[in-house]
Amino acid sequence: MPQARSNRRQEPQAPPLSPSRLSSILVALALVAGAFFPHPALAQQAADAVQPEVGGATAGVRAVSAQHEMVVTAHPEASKAGLAMLEKGGSAIDAMIAAQLVLGLVEPQSSGIGGGAFLLVHDGASGRLVTYDGRETAPMAASGDLFIGEDGEAMKFFDAVIGGRSVGTPGTVALLAAAHRKHGRLPWAELFEPAIELADKGFAVTERFNALVAANAESLARFEATRKYFLSEEGVPIFPGTVLRNPAYADTLRAIAKDGEKAFYSGPIAEDIVKTIQAAEGNPGLLSLDDLAAYQVKEREPVCFDYRDAKICGMGPPSSGALTIGQILGMVENRDMAALGADNPESWRLIGEASRLAFADRGRYMADSDFVDMPAGLLNRSYLAGRAKLLSGGSDGGPVLTQNDVQPGMPPDDRTLLYADDQALELPSTSHLAIVDRFGTVVSMTTTIENAYGSRLMVRGFLLNNELTDFSFVPEVAGRPVANRVEPGKRPRSSMAPTIVYRGGKPWLAIGSPGGSRIIGYVAKTLIAMIDWKMDIQQAVGLPHLVNRFGTYDVEEGTTAEALAPALSEYGYRVEAKNLNSGLHGIMIGENGLAGGADPRREGVALGN
Ligand code: GLU
Repeated sequence: MPQARSNRRQEPQAPPLSPSRLSSILVALALVAGAFFPHPALAQQAADAVQPEVGGATAGVRAVSAQHEMVVTAHPEASKAGLAMLEKGGSAIDAMIAAQLVLGLVEPQSSGIGGGAFLLVHDGASGRLVTYDGRETAPMAASGDLFIGEDGEAMKFFDAVIGGRSVGTPGTVALLAAAHRKHGRLPWAELFEPAIELADKGFAVTERFNALVAANAESLARFEATRKYFLSEEGVPIFPGTVLRNPAYADTLRAIAKDGEKAFYSGPIAEDIVKTIQAAEGNPGLLSLDDLAAYQVKEREPVCFDYRDAKICGMGPPSSGALTIGQILGMVENRDMAALGADNPESWRLIGEASRLAFADRGRYMADSDFVDMPAGLLNRSYLAGRAKLLSGGSDGGPVLTQNDVQPGMPPDDRTLLYADDQALELPSTSHLAIVDRFGTVVSMTTTIENAYGSRLMVRGFLLNNELTDFSFVPEVAGRPVANRVEPGKRPRSSMAPTIVYRGGKPWLAIGSPGGSRIIGYVAKTLIAMIDWKMDIQQAVGLPHLVNRFGTYDVEEGTTAEALAPALSEYGYRVEAKNLNSGLHGIMIGENGLAGGADPRREGVALGN
């Protein structure tokens, strides 16, 4: 029996790669690298850094172009399902729904109907940008001490995650239904056909699927329904190449296809969800039928800000994504990032320092604004210009900010003294979809069940999220409330950053990524790579990662980002080489068509016509 690795490891690891497969990939890369990566070392690495363990030989190697319509998702089957809807005359929303339902089957560790999502839609007909919040909610019975153990201390992260306690009211089904009512063209039930067919007929387990099951085997084995689906009787993870069927998921989808969202939020499916959560051995949860019945999708104002000639729009609270990215870009905007370039440690010092300062504000102020008064001035230009002065230390290669310098600022507002810093931890799973249809509608959606395999609870063929562990585990620090504390009905703060960028008043880019709180760094640097460093979308998503959230500089291991480590250490950072498993998926909308980029670190593909 393969040895199950610790369930604490969240970031997908490379399954073994055969030498022959590796060499065929390297040949493919060598062929395209010269033509598509004229940029020096780092950009060259954008091609070379393709981590072939997670994709096919051509996945993510070069931008895919199309004329009229395009779908980019984390799995070929999901991209195919989405494109099939577009080809039938469906809208980008129709394609998104079909793709999401397939993702819940073929990439179950990342997202699905047991989770939540944030959706940005630029509607081609009205030219309006709408954002939908399908984030999970805390049960009405939950309170600030949800994650405080019997000893009065905050629970350990995985003790809280695994089981019923962490499960928030899923928002994805309500989100799909709301989006379909507003922007759908094809009949609702038709969008379910690809996923139902694939669930009935089965799909081939990939190496990545197998490796992730193996990495989480111990926790997946704790609950019978989950164990039976992912592991053999002896606890062996399902093999690559196995055809995996999920008839329970097909039945669930048939019910929702027929009766709409009410088949999920009430009746037998809802009853099973609640029963599974409340009966979870060792760590039961509080979610009730009333919580499910009361779930509401919220349409919210987008958060938009200017960066050079671009207008960048994203998801506002309860996500911290757009606000934190806006702060980072706002702080580096008066620097000549284009002249500094992608290979210059000074570029990364500036991005890293701006990011640390933005994360300090995020920790102090950002949460579900329906529950906490957030300062209005977080993106105020003069506030950010003041914060940017803190970056001056190293403009000639001088020292970086000390931890004492990296404190939350005082954005122009009178509510800034209320809160203590957040203690929430986030780890990667999640999926991003970008879609453009021939009617000019653009979709950017980040979707999640939070941790890999969420709470590990499986019901009727789908996994339940652990989104509530995105709340702070402690409700207050030194007598001051934490903005992101648990409250009944509240949505946990997120880092998800589905983004749509406008140039010349027209949508120019849809982009986003998984990666927990590193999402913010992944998306911010992709925007800088495309806007300042003029990389094409595939170069930008493949560019090796350098991410700084709280002080340590994470550089992507096995890439040329590591070559910058000595210079960053000299500045005073503690540098750590890590597997930084983003899943950046995007579409650039040019004058002459569409270019799609899929992250070479995962299995995704861009498909279009
Ligand atoms: N739950 C996280 C969030 O909402 C996303 C997790 C991930 O990207 O892995 O920010």
